Amino acid sequence: MNHSSSSHLSSSSHPLARYGWDEGWEAAFAPHAARGLVPGRVVRVDRGLCDVATPDGTVRADTEFVVPRDPVKVVCTGDWAAVDPEGGEPRYVRTLLPRRTAFVRSTSSKRSEGQILAANVDHAIVAVSLAADLDLARVERFLALAWESGAQPVVVLTKTDLVPDAVGLSYLVQDVETAAPGACVLAVSARTGEGLDVLAAVVAGGTSVLLGQSGAGKSTLANALLGEDVMDVQATRDVDGKGRHTTTTRNLLVLPGGGVLIDTPGLRGVGLWDAGAGVGQVFSEIEELAATCRFHDCAHGSEPGCAVLAAVESGALPERRLVSYRKLLRENERIVAKTDARLRAEIRREWKRRGAEGRAAMEAKRGRQR
Ligand code: GDP
Ligand code: ZN
Repeated sequence: MNHSSSSHLSSSSHPLARYGWDEGWEAAFAPHAARGLVPGRVVRVDRGLCDVATPDGTVRADTEFVVPRDPVKVVCTGDWAAVDPEGGEPRYVRTLLPRRTAFVRSTSSKRSEGQILAANVDHAIVAVSLAADLDLARVERFLALAWESGAQPVVVLTKTDLVPDAVGLSYLVQDVETAAPGACVLAVSARTGEGLDVLAAVVAGGTSVLLGQSGAGKSTLANALLGEDVMDVQATRDVDGKGRHTTTTRNLLVLPGGGVLIDTPGLRGVGLWDAGAGVGQVFSEIEELAATCRFHDCAHGSEPGCAVLAAVESGALPERRLVSYRKLLRENERIVAKTDARLRAEIRREWKRRGAEGRAAMEAKRGRQR
């Protein structure tokens, strides 16, 4: 009977609770605990090594044993890992717990399979600046990425201090709400502090990422959630002695008000994504209408009995939503087509790699057949 073992602690008093450890992870980890492995959350990954937050502090671990062919399955910031216990050098990551959610970039210049950017994210905070005119199509695009990942999207309208009147602000919030069914919409100002308490409460319940255009106010929000002094603590604790790089290399941060923030460079520069399923959720009211169109493959163009066009005509569905929906679907198709083209190019290269001997043999065979 060993009552001091960490696995006997309830999940809320577990040393990893502030990293998001809960009963679900505890259960998933049980077989690995039985093998004597230690649980931990990946806070940073670089070139075959990663930093894992464990009950005994942050451990540098080798990822050699978890190198799959599929780049989406490689160790990623936010993953829960089973790591070797203290003793051996180096310590290895032995396995990853199955992910609940994942942000995957479908297109990077070289790969066709996609690139994993963040794992086990509960809330995708989509920052939208009120300093410029609202671009609802852009909001919808970020929402599609969020839904696609499995995370719950939250739209945060930033810089409310720049909106002169409260009535104007409430209209802006309403506009965004019609573009974001199923997502909560908040309005905040980092300058005045308005709404930051609500945002802090939302992110306290899990792991969050910040998405949004450059200039939307993501860094400012991150700093507001982290508190200035927390960033300083991070810098002095940096074991590599590269304190000034802390914010760019350490990608997972525990928030003083509860919750975890993941901020990876890849997530910052999101471009083209394969968000097919996500698009459906952003436009859930259109997909619901489409289910009642006369033809199941209705393109909502000029077909008779089209419920979507009827809703546009009656004013129930803003035409802008239908246009935006079509645009995102088309964009997604282009991404898929590009990915397929890359796959074909890779297959062609593979053929070229095969020896001249093989090719000669094939040609000889063809010659005989002629
Ligand atoms: P990011 O590119 O999304 O990380 O955006 P930043 O956090 O760097 O913010 C972009 C600009 O907006 C900076 O000049 C900030 O000072 C400014 N900004 C951020 N939050 C607020 C706010 O609440 N009110 C005002 N007026 N400006 C803000
Ligand atoms: Zn239709």
